[in-house]
Amino acid sequence: MSEHKVIVIGSGPAGDTAALYAARAGLKPHVFAGFGAGGPPGGQLMLTTEIENFPGFPGGGIAGPELMARMRQQAIDFGAEFEDVDVSKVDFSERPFKVWVDDKLYTAEAVIVATGARSRLLNIPGEQKLISRGLHTCATCDGAFYRNKSMIVIGGGDTAMEEATFLTRFGDVNLVHRREEFRASTTMLERAKKNPKIKWTLNEQPLEYLLRENGTVCGIKSKNTKTGEVSEIKADGVFLAIGHIPNTDLFKGQLKMHDNGYLVTGAAAGGPSEHPNSYTSVKGVFACGDVQDHTYRQAITAAGSGCMAAIDAERWLAEQE
Ligand code: NDP
Repeated sequence: MSEHKVIVIGSGPAGDTAALYAARAGLKPHVFAGFGAGGPPGGQLMLTTEIENFPGFPGGGIAGPELMARMRQQAIDFGAEFEDVDVSKVDFSERPFKVWVDDKLYTAEAVIVATGARSRLLNIPGEQKLISRGLHTCATCDGAFYRNKSMIVIGGGDTAMEEATFLTRFGDVNLVHRREEFRASTTMLERAKKNPKIKWTLNEQPLEYLLRENGTVCGIKSKNTKTGEVSEIKADGVFLAIGHIPNTDLFKGQLKMHDNGYLVTGAAAGGPSEHPNSYTSVKGVFACGDVQDHTYRQAITAAGSGCMAAIDAERWLAEQE
């Protein structure tokens, strides 16, 4: 058995920032850097190229993997320990909390959950490797790479409407959706429909990606869901907007979740104040980053909430002594 004061699960911007703050507070956090969802340690930013909107990196931004390596090193400099493994099971029913990696048991007085979320993909073979190579999952992050270019947005929900509308700042958008009806709210759909830079391609289910000779994505091959006809739709880049999946399977039955699977935090989870905070429904377990945020989903907001979780954990631990 391995005993710790604080365990952090997840190592994206939220987990690494929580680790940095907890480490500087002398809590020697133990970080499980795997995601429990098969993704790489470091989270979604490991799948991106340049990040131009994380403050502090003028002159072209910083590569996602480099930013994550720096965040991790900064936490290690202050005493955080990282293990690149996925947590297999947790038991938050009593303190100390229990966390298993396969058969090995770890315990902690406080746990910070930062397991993030993943973009829903089309499940086309090799898709994961195309992310940031003409295939994107975040318009706010990558739209600016498509100035005066053409883009496909796939999806029919609010995210697709919002991202398609946003991307028209840069170029023309072809919104491809598999039905004629939309899951999106009327307001957002109407706003997108009024935008002359959005073209609508309906009843089309993507089958595979079209690739340039250098292996980057330049469109999709899709099947008309009414006629069965297969056609090619070309563009400079493709944005997937078919939803996100929070990495919360590990916490089912242990932490309160919204209907969409995201963790409930703050006052709604029984936290100490109406002011936003990282308390979950179990006292001593805190959550930060995309695992509890389906609205902003940015590296900087995740990092900010990681800081909040570490401060909440530190103060809560002090109150227990
Ligand atoms: P949704 O689940 O609402 O929509 C996903 C869309 O992707 C659907 O149109 C769905 O099609 C389509 N889709 C799913 N899987 C596939 C697939 N394999 N192939 C092709 N198409 C697929 O997700 P969103 O991310 O849009 O929204 C999530 C939540 O966040 C919602 O509650 C939404 O209201 C909210 N939100 C709110 C915003 C705001 O208010 N500003 C902005 C963005 C999101 P189909 O309809 O056929 O199932």
